Amino acid sequence: MRHNFTVKQQRQMAARSGGVCEAGKGETEAMYGMEDGETCDEPATEFDHVVADALKRTKIMSIDEGLHVCGFHHNNKTQDHDMPKIRKVNRIVDKSQGIRPNYRPIPGSKASGIRKRMNGQIEWR
Ligand SMILES: [Zn+2]
Repeated sequence: MRHNFTVKQQRQMAARSGGVCEAGKGETEAMYGMEDGETCDEPATEFDHVVADALKRTKIMSIDEGLHVCGFHHNNKTQDHDMPKIRKVNRIVDKSQGIRPNYRPIPGSKASGIRKRMNGQIEWR
């Protein structure tokens, strides 16, 4: 289940931002692909979960859990910061549950478990 900001929380965050992108506030520069101390003066049009909802999966308790940001910085963080983490979490969860990707090793490679000798003889490693 997705946990979005309530309308009330969005209004409070918009009042806090003054309508200006908050990317980089509270030492979040790196997440948004910005330099230390860099700020953005684009109009804020979207609400970003500082910790992606897909990773946190709990109810939003405070407007400090989100930033009012511009579309560029929201997208940038989602693609470059959140998605690699979400994919890694999915891989770890899959592995713990025994879910394996479809896997076809190259015949004759170490992963295939088969060795083909120079004289043509095939044997298990
Ligand atoms: Zn921005």
